[in-house]
Amino acid sequence: MTKIEWAHAGLGQGETWNPIRANNDPMGSPTRIGWHCEKVSPACANCYAERQNMAGARGGTRYPYKAAHRKNGSIQVYLDEKTLLAPLRWKTPRGIFVCSMTDVFGDWVLDEWLDKIFAVAALCPQHIFIFLTKRPKRMREYVNTYARFARILEARVSLPNFDHALPKNWPLPNIWFGVTAEDQQRANERIPDLLGTPAAIRFVSCEPLLGAVDLRRINFQPNLWIDCIDRNWPERFAQFGAGRGLDLVITGGETGPGARPTHIDWERSIRNQCAAADVAYFRKQIGEWKAVCEMSQEEIDACYHPAPESAPDATRRAKVRSIVMHRDGAVFDNPIASGAFEGGKGAMTMFRVGRRRAGHLLDGKAHHEFPDYERRR
Ligand code: SF4
Repeated sequence: MTKIEWAHAGLGQGETWNPIRANNDPMGSPTRIGWHCEKVSPACANCYAERQNMAGARGGTRYPYKAAHRKNGSIQVYLDEKTLLAPLRWKTPRGIFVCSMTDVFGDWVLDEWLDKIFAVAALCPQHIFIFLTKRPKRMREYVNTYARFARILEARVSLPNFDHALPKNWPLPNIWFGVTAEDQQRANERIPDLLGTPAAIRFVSCEPLLGAVDLRRINFQPNLWIDCIDRNWPERFAQFGAGRGLDLVITGGETGPGARPTHIDWERSIRNQCAAADVAYFRKQIGEWKAVCEMSQEEIDACYHPAPESAPDATRRAKVRSIVMHRDGAVFDNPIASGAFEGGKGAMTMFRVGRRRAGHLLDGKAHHEFPDYERRR
């Protein structure tokens, strides 16, 4: 069972599944088993999976997520055949976030391993398998490779119960593909490849959201834009998807040490874009930083030490860090700094209240929608 709220995919129970592992001894007698990945994006800066891997409490190689450790042989990445079979044993339907501790389409993941992972998905129609990547070019190539489905069916022969009834079509109806788009640049770079990947459901995870993202203006070639959230695509964009754009958009702020703030207007904009296009919207969490406009008076009071009884009107000392953030991402540590509250910049005071206290409501409302999946099966 995972705490990642969207991983249950509307089925009520969510799991993470990590059959791609790494160990610290390529010579065959490892002392530590964990995971491996390589950073590709601003969203990776405070990677949760790397933190877990470094801490080594519940497994972990203790190596940071750097290509050098794989290339110089300090670690060995492999497909863990035991973990691979786990979904076959889960009888109740679950949403399964595939390879939450790495990027499943990283170039250290062999095509043969992917074939086996997809073969398990083919044998488990009761589950939904969710693939989220920051490397959508590889995803698009892998999925669109000629005879891919035949190779997956071949790979399934090495698995138990391989003669289960199998889906007839590729892509599999129980697979969701998604990309991370933490800002407009990453949205422009990644979403066109997502739309070129056939899938039952396509989604974008804007988490951690680090900048404004306009899904209606994806700049996929110089001076050419597509509206990727529009359900009724013009015929000429059919090359990017079977006549439709995105099915689900997830947003969330960053959590953990060094967490960066998310401007509330960025989230409001994505929420509004989804509502206008009738696309499911899931707001995961606010993050560590909460905008003052989302806080009650009690919450704001809790960010300050009480004033001394002898001077009840004295300026109170803050208990937590506060900043002023602009819509363009500029951050001011000092609210009286020049320009901090300049008009027209969307200046917003934010307090570092912590993930739990920040919660997940946006303008007082929970947004936990999923696409109409049954309609697509
Ligand atoms: S791709 Fe994901 S798992 Fe890999 S370093 Fe980036 S955030 Fe971490």
